[in-house]
Amino acid sequence: MNRSARELQPASAPTDEWAAEELQRLSSLGLRRELEPIDSPQGAEVKIAGRALVNFSSNDYLGLANHPALVEACAAAARRYGVGSGASRLLVGDTASHHALERALATWMHSDRALLFNSGYAANVGILSSLVGTGDVIFSDELNHASLIDGCRLSRASTVVYPHRDLGALERLLQNHRGRRRLVCSESVFSMDGDRAPVHELAALCAKFEAGLVIDEAHAIGVIGPAGTGACAEAGLAGGAAVRMGTLGKALGAFGAFVAISGSVADLLINRARTLIYSTSLPMPICEAARVAVGLASSGAPQARLWRNVRRFREGLSRIGIRADASSCIFPVVLGAPERALAASKHLRRRGLLVKAIRPPTVPPGTSRLRFSICASHADEHIDLAIDALESLEIENGR
Ligand code: PMP
Repeated sequence: MNRSARELQPASAPTDEWAAEELQRLSSLGLRRELEPIDSPQGAEVKIAGRALVNFSSNDYLGLANHPALVEACAAAARRYGVGSGASRLLVGDTASHHALERALATWMHSDRALLFNSGYAANVGILSSLVGTGDVIFSDELNHASLIDGCRLSRASTVVYPHRDLGALERLLQNHRGRRRLVCSESVFSMDGDRAPVHELAALCAKFEAGLVIDEAHAIGVIGPAGTGACAEAGLAGGAAVRMGTLGKALGAFGAFVAISGSVADLLINRARTLIYSTSLPMPICEAARVAVGLASSGAPQARLWRNVRRFREGLSRIGIRADASSCIFPVVLGAPERALAASKHLRRRGLLVKAIRPPTVPPGTSRLRFSICASHADEHIDLAIDALESLEIENGR
């Protein structure tokens, strides 16, 4: 190695030292995370290191991620169009597959338009930062997902966080915080608690204060509402009452996201949303698989099995003394300290269940938990196994 090359290879790079320091800090708080590869398709049962586990940590609510019709659509599209889209939508990454999927989504959602994003994260950041900016105010539920929080930050609007689902507090804040444009944003089904936002009342408050409304339906699309069209549709909100964001990687079993919107908001996002403009568009095979998923989800058939499973799980929980609200397919079992959630997750793993511990910053400090998500693909035995395993856990909370 010559001298200048050696100078560029210090014994320890500053970035490695920073990483070691930060990781040490996370470990000492019980907050260090690690990857753990699944070596089977996604489903009610998955394999980790060769061992089959019943999967309660997936958002594949309708069991579509490994559905033969999606797999076939994806494979056929890859043979026909190749894999990569090659560029962003505004360059040459805009194809008939993207437009066909957007039309199918708009028809399903009864919206003027639907616009694709590469992920729910990218959608939320793109939507919020396009609609508001400096001098504007966003009112954001305190339990909103990280992607909404980051969208608020990147928008440069001032952000007012309101207590979870608290309409009275939100109304007072709307009275007191003026701005050029004002926007309320909330999830419709909260990802880590499974409870629901009062979307109808939020829309009424927004109408009263002339504020815009953005609803993240990541955990509602495909699951809730007429033909799986989400909580806003279930609450009877007219298409224009809210900008609705839905993901394609959860109940729809594919990847990516969309917004159901008016033509003018769609045109604005195409011109302003940096996460859309400056990012390679979705691969065509994904668009084609997602379009098949929309057809399956809108038939309403997979939801019947899902809600039957949700009921069975809720009844099982109540039999062992755990209260649960069951207005979605997400069931938190709050345990408190991160170490308790990790220990509980390990305990369930020994009994053949995959239930990942959810810790801060994903949830507020002191509320580390197990998060069960119930899917249409679960068999009765899977659900009963989970209830038995939970009964064997020492849970003070909710009993
Ligand atoms: N919003 C919510 C409420 C979510 O739970 C998630 C995913 N965890 C996202 C947005 C981001 O969606 P995606 O995984 O498609 O980026």
